[in-house]
Amino acid sequence: MNLKERTESAVLRCLRSLNARMELSESEKFYLSNLEAGFEGEVAFDKLSAKLKEERYILNDMLLEANRSDFQIDSIIISEGIIDAIDVKYFKGDYVWKDGEIYTRQNGYKCKNPFEQLKRSNYLFNQYLRENKLNFLVRSTLVFNHPEFTLYNAPEDDSIILPTQVNRFMAEMDSRPSKLHDGHKKLANILLTSNKDGSNYSKLPAYTYEGIKKGIFCEKCLCKMNTLNKYFLICGNCGGQERIENAIVRSANEFKLLFPQRILTTQSIMDWCQVNFSSRTYLRALQRHFKAVGKTKNTYYV
Ligand SMILES: [Zn+2]
Repeated sequence: MNLKERTESAVLRCLRSLNARMELSESEKFYLSNLEAGFEGEVAFDKLSAKLKEERYILNDMLLEANRSDFQIDSIIISEGIIDAIDVKYFKGDYVWKDGEIYTRQNGYKCKNPFEQLKRSNYLFNQYLRENKLNFLVRSTLVFNHPEFTLYNAPEDDSIILPTQVNRFMAEMDSRPSKLHDGHKKLANILLTSNKDGSNYSKLPAYTYEGIKKGIFCEKCLCKMNTLNKYFLICGNCGGQERIENAIVRSANEFKLLFPQRILTTQSIMDWCQVNFSSRTYLRALQRHFKAVGKTKNTYYV
């Protein structure tokens, strides 16, 4: 049973939107592509864990604290006899394992050590359970699940699952019978209540309303969209089409995400979208998808 779904982080959504609306630096673009790949890998893993049979609690994307340190676990799978703490790495391409570190094969770039991260989160998770007087056995595993990942000189270590081993790893977990009782429920509840909001807005580039591009941008290729007919917008680049109402709502959500302190009104969203629809069209979209506060001229939406 999935108790906590994974959603795209606010930082990822902000960066994606800013990528269409301003020039990101190379390192910001790199950060964005890492976030995208990380999310894609986690979703791929979720598809497998969703198929697990028997009684299990699954909590995705957890940020916890122990010993005054934060630690993150991509997936916690609670089964009868064990808690699986899974860290998913969606590395693509050829890598080399040397002296306990991972390097890219192409240019020898040293990666942030995922094994150290795993050891650290395993230590802190056990500490967390002790602090909360919870007595459970934890197994921490690092799962590399990109089908095009190769690790040369990979260590023989059961806590590391390579792409060719992922299915077997899941099948082995699936083969263990599991009946959950109140103790597991209590554990899951404590985990859910202590989960922290991990949004790290400090990693976003500085931006202002005046400084970024206005308009409705294509979801797929980030180019500007124009009106096609009464009902649809079309992307000038990829030809993708989107219903006008949908595009207005999507843009209004971007506006709220990037500028939470600004109020959403028909006027502000007209200025934000910069597409020549009638104010009635904007008004209707807002009325249908947001909650109106106040009446007459001063109405705004939340
Ligand atoms: Zn497009």
